[in-house]
Amino acid sequence: MPKGKFCYECGSQGELREGMCEPCFSKKRQKTAAEKITVTQCSKCRRALLNGRWQDINWTKFFSKRLKADVSIVDKGPVPHKKADQMFEVSYGNDKLYATVHFNRLVCGVCGRALSHYYVATLQVRGSDEAVRFAEQALRDVGRKDSMAFFRVEEVRGGVNFKCGSKSAVKAAAKRMRLELGAELKSSFEDVTEKQGDILRRLTILARTKPI
Ligand SMILES: [Zn+2]
Ligand SMILES: [Zn+2]
Repeated sequence: MPKGKFCYECGSQGELREGMCEPCFSKKRQKTAAEKITVTQCSKCRRALLNGRWQDINWTKFFSKRLKADVSIVDKGPVPHKKADQMFEVSYGNDKLYATVHFNRLVCGVCGRALSHYYVATLQVRGSDEAVRFAEQALRDVGRKDSMAFFRVEEVRGGVNFKCGSKSAVKAAAKRMRLELGAELKSSFEDVTEKQGDILRRLTILARTKPI
């Protein structure tokens, strides 16, 4: 116990937490929790902007950090009459309180690019339907780790084109097609000028499998 220290709120002497005695610290925490919490969230992918980074939000971590305590939470869902977008029952120690969260909804950069039909690489799949399904699954597998691996599908004569936001995703999917389906690959590049005047080097990989 630090001797000779006083709570800066009430002046009582004793064990302090962040400069406050236990009752004052607890009061402060209650106040913090009762404050309106606003979180910026992407309306498309639901990731939140936290510490300058778009990420999946872990509410237990979020409230633990905010209340400086180990918490367990129950998601109570939206509050009626639009008072808040989401309410949580937050328990810590023997205490329990309700915290309300408001979402400030935006579209994150990744979703913005996906919506604007941006793409940097095309995987052209020609051959069997199985190859098309395989390619789609391979791109989805990569997409679990690479948020730029969004894609849209274009049906063309003789197959399908996957237009993707990530070159490495297209390369990885094509490589799997070669190794697992024996697909023949052919790569090419095309320089395109973007609206802002930047040159974008687009990759196209043609993956051809034998029709079954
Ligand atoms: Zn105090
Ligand atoms: Zn998003």
